[in-house]
Amino acid sequence: MQNDIANDKRPLLLIADDEPSNINVLVEALIGDYHIKVATNGKMALDIARLDEQPDLIILDIMMPEMDGFEVCKALKDNPATQYIPVMFVTAHNDASVELEALKLEAIEFVSKPVNPSTLRLRVRNLVKLKQLQDQLFELSIHDQLTGLANRRRFDEFLEWEWRRALRIKRPLGLIMFDVDLFKPFNDRYGHIAGDQCLKQIAHTIAAFMHRPGDLAARYGGEEFVCILAGTDLEEAVAIANACRTSIEALNIGHEMSPFGRVTVSYGVCSQVPTGMDAQSVLVEMADKKLYLAKERGRNRVEG
Ligand code: GH3
Ligand code: MG
Ligand code: MG
Repeated sequence: MQNDIANDKRPLLLIADDEPSNINVLVEALIGDYHIKVATNGKMALDIARLDEQPDLIILDIMMPEMDGFEVCKALKDNPATQYIPVMFVTAHNDASVELEALKLEAIEFVSKPVNPSTLRLRVRNLVKLKQLQDQLFELSIHDQLTGLANRRRFDEFLEWEWRRALRIKRPLGLIMFDVDLFKPFNDRYGHIAGDQCLKQIAHTIAAFMHRPGDLAARYGGEEFVCILAGTDLEEAVAIANACRTSIEALNIGHEMSPFGRVTVSYGVCSQVPTGMDAQSVLVEMADKKLYLAKERGRNRVEG
């Protein structure tokens, strides 16, 4: 059952209404094209909306027990994790003041009952299409196109977030800077396409070491990568960098211009319990210095 839901690629709708016959009308109009979850009160709707697998559209009744539709909509819009899920009200109310209130709460659509199944289907289709485009643009905005890792923008945001969290809970935050060794000669010898392929393989290898929700691997720039390791002290971060070094060497990507005969990477590692300073000037600068040292001391090595 779990798998069936996970494998269902259809857009997900959440329908919240306390009246089963109303739910049936909506489900009958929409079933087939969508995966549908149902809530019979406002509180339940909010709980479902906050799950990891977010609905592409929420269809809300207004009068419901526990929390009415307006309160649900307000709670959704007040939470950064759910604020961009579109909300459509389907309600028995048809006076202008209620519609005005719904739109003020950033509902994207207001439909009065009785519902016309044909127009409802088209409204839902149009809104879901927009939501999918919004999701695609968001994914593009945080990922690096070549490697699929997080991009620099996402890294900066995530680092700031994790730094503040670690400051609150007084836990260390680890960071590893990676720089591919002698990559200019690699490109010159094997060509840019082979260079791109090599960066992809390295990115894939680094990503496999990210296990916890507070871990993030990103492409920092050109042939430089970085990873954030939440709750990781220096010793653990160095161990992860060493494991990466072994795995990247084991890819055995030939590089005849390198003294190692294959593609290697240098690593600058640091970890710190955050202070009031900002993460860029503490962690990034420190890791950068260590990385410089790794290059100076012969490359294909970890300094921390
Ligand atoms: P070092 O060991 O000191 O780091 O030497 P290096 O040659 O790796 O350093 P340098 O900074 O001189 O060269 C980096 C090279 O990385 C130059 C650039 O062409 C290449 N590069 C950067 N981004 C990409 C990319 O997206 N694709 C490819 N194929 N090459 C890239
Ligand atoms: Mg570089
Ligand atoms: Mg380099």
